[in-house]
Amino acid sequence: MADNIKSLLTPFSEVTKFHGHTCPGTAIGYRASEIALNKLSSSKAGDEEFIAIVENDSCSVDAIQAVTGCTMGKGNLILRDYGKQTYTFINRKTGDALRISLDQDLNEINPNFKTARIKALASGADEADKKEFEKQKNILTEKILKMLGEELFKIEKVNLQVPDKASIYGSVKCAECGEQVSEHRARVKNGRIVCIPCFGD
Ligand SMILES: [Zn+2]
Ligand SMILES: [Zn+2]
Repeated sequence: MADNIKSLLTPFSEVTKFHGHTCPGTAIGYRASEIALNKLSSSKAGDEEFIAIVENDSCSVDAIQAVTGCTMGKGNLILRDYGKQTYTFINRKTGDALRISLDQDLNEINPNFKTARIKALASGADEADKKEFEKQKNILTEKILKMLGEELFKIEKVNLQVPDKASIYGSVKCAECGEQVSEHRARVKNGRIVCIPCFGD
């Protein structure tokens, strides 16, 4: 079954199209998604069968959306912004969950990356420095795409409660600004129902 899924995997070029450029971040998200689909899927991930909990809001998250179909709008992409390259995937049907955490220093994967980056971002950087950085970045991206998943990440099975399906909430009118606000985001201020920005003022 795993091979079958692999053949259905979205090509990396589709991720690049969605994200706008090639980068090490999308490569990391791509590999994490690939592992999750291979190890957790009983079939091609259905629309809302999968849940992804991402612990950063970087480029990698776009790859996860493009490959797994988990999106914020469907409520199956959950952001917990701890600034960590950690991705937890849950198969809602089976309850199986996998925590996939980057276990490699990017500067060790491509030792030239760091030097090239510092040079390219320095105030006196010229075109050659920028070109060299792009080159080293591409080398790093390629390496991430080709590495063994077990080498790139720490992969653990975890036990998690399956979050509820996205709910449809009613709306209420904010007593201060008059705009509609989803019930579950409304607050009470001095006995009146208000939206979060008005609550904060
Ligand atoms: Zn990027
Ligand atoms: Zn308001």
